[in-house]
Amino acid sequence: MALVSEIPSPPGARRRLRLASPATLEAIGEIEVQTAEDVRSALAAARAAQPDWAALSFAARARYLERALALLLERQDEFVDVIMRESGKPRTEALMIDIFASCDSLAWYAKHAPRILRTRKQRLHGMLRILKQLRVVYQPLGVVGVISPWNGPFVLSLNPSVQALMAGNCVLLKPSEVTPASGRLVGELFAAAGLPPGVLTVLTGDGETGAALVEAGVDKIAFTGSVATGRKVALACARQLIPCTLELGGKDPMVVCADADLDVAAGGAVAGAFFNTGQYCCGTERVYVVESVADAFTRKVVERTAKLRQSDHGEFDVGAVFWGRQLEIIEEHVNDAVAKGAKVLVGGRRNPNLRGLFYEPTVLSDVTHEMRVMREETFGPVLPIVRVASEDEAIRMANDSDYGLSANVWTGNPRHGVELAQRIRSGSVCVNDMAMTYGALEAPFGGRKYSGVGQVNGEAGLRGFCFAQPILVDRFGGRQTAKNYPYSFAKDAGMQRLMRLLWGTPLGRWLS
Ligand code: NAD
Repeated sequence: MALVSEIPSPPGARRRLRLASPATLEAIGEIEVQTAEDVRSALAAARAAQPDWAALSFAARARYLERALALLLERQDEFVDVIMRESGKPRTEALMIDIFASCDSLAWYAKHAPRILRTRKQRLHGMLRILKQLRVVYQPLGVVGVISPWNGPFVLSLNPSVQALMAGNCVLLKPSEVTPASGRLVGELFAAAGLPPGVLTVLTGDGETGAALVEAGVDKIAFTGSVATGRKVALACARQLIPCTLELGGKDPMVVCADADLDVAAGGAVAGAFFNTGQYCCGTERVYVVESVADAFTRKVVERTAKLRQSDHGEFDVGAVFWGRQLEIIEEHVNDAVAKGAKVLVGGRRNPNLRGLFYEPTVLSDVTHEMRVMREETFGPVLPIVRVASEDEAIRMANDSDYGLSANVWTGNPRHGVELAQRIRSGSVCVNDMAMTYGALEAPFGGRKYSGVGQVNGEAGLRGFCFAQPILVDRFGGRQTAKNYPYSFAKDAGMQRLMRLLWGTPLGRWLS
């Protein structure tokens, strides 16, 4: 089963794809796959628009974001409908993940980017302080390619685009072929906010268009998606010597300590695993709970999971799986685990009462690290629980993974939680919460190991869309350099006396 299918087209014509809703399997539209030629002409338009865009003040750029924010607040129901139709998410998730987080991103970068990106005067150290002034200028890179996945189809397209735009770049955005209408909304929103033509262009298509964008000659790629595609993007960027950030998959662990509030921790586990139907990069994919509380914790998780409502309309908690390929992976992981001795405590099958792509929220016990469900990203509503003898064993097993995106620790002692958090090799950790770090815009966000390269969001992420150019101004009009060349032994002796003074005496070391 696939939600995207190829429409036969005559040779030489652009490829076309047909889309169906994952919730109802009904047809919801068609898209054209834009070619390398289309990408090149979009890039030419972006290059032409970029100097004028970069010449605007931060305040002027921020005004476009503020207008977009006002329009998004006004038209949120219309946007939610598009996202729900394409993704099969519950309404609350479309509102929370895509709209709320996008409003926050627009408001935060409009307000803070001028401070973060303004030219900074920075004090130099030692003698240099007397001789030179340093300024660091954050210059736009030029044109940035943003490639986004389907699981947060609006916010994961909008958030990197907003940062690239505030930094003075033009953007070519290629949303997922599974959720093109949600990605196109980003373009529509900014067009309605009056953004000049060429500053943000949305390209539709699948991997063909994505690969063409990576090869087109842009100045940076901000990629969010799978490890397999991320590797291809990284190789292409390395060949062209252009920077990229890679926000990739995860296998996030949850550690439950003996002193945790078990009701709250069980609620966190269920939310972490089934939020966005488990199709959340920082979703909880495995739980390690210490022996003494394992039975009570697991019982609470199962009780909560059994009460979750799954549907394709009205009020419900767990939506559809976005496409057939993902549903197959989920089934393979659960079947492999069961074949190797895991027990299904609840769920464990496609929902027989619904026509669309629905997998029942599933809790597994008796799982081991020999099973695929514990090693590979499942990206579905499946929660395997492992009993461990101690917190040390939990941390060791949490770190026994190729991935390192996010993690969470549950304990009655937050200070102890922070100590445990530092022992987990992941991009971020939450104590007594599921993964909220993407929404905390001040927090640098990114993965370790296979989960990615580079960080997005916050000051570091925003500056990553710039080249930090240092400009050094000599306070004495360059006379010293002119005096020091050509060389003489006398000048060498002077330099040696200076070195002894600077680093050979306590006063010198204090000054240097
Ligand atoms: P994917 O890698 O299949 O596709 C992502 C995007 O890349 C799509 O737009 C796709 O069309 C495009 N693409 C495909 N082939 C390409 C190529 N050769 N060159 C350039 N672009 C190409 O990923 P997906 O299935 O859409 O997304 C799910 C994955 O994304 C999961 O692994 C999830 O964990 C990850 N994800 C990570 C984060 C994060 O912040 N770390 C956030 C959300 C999702």
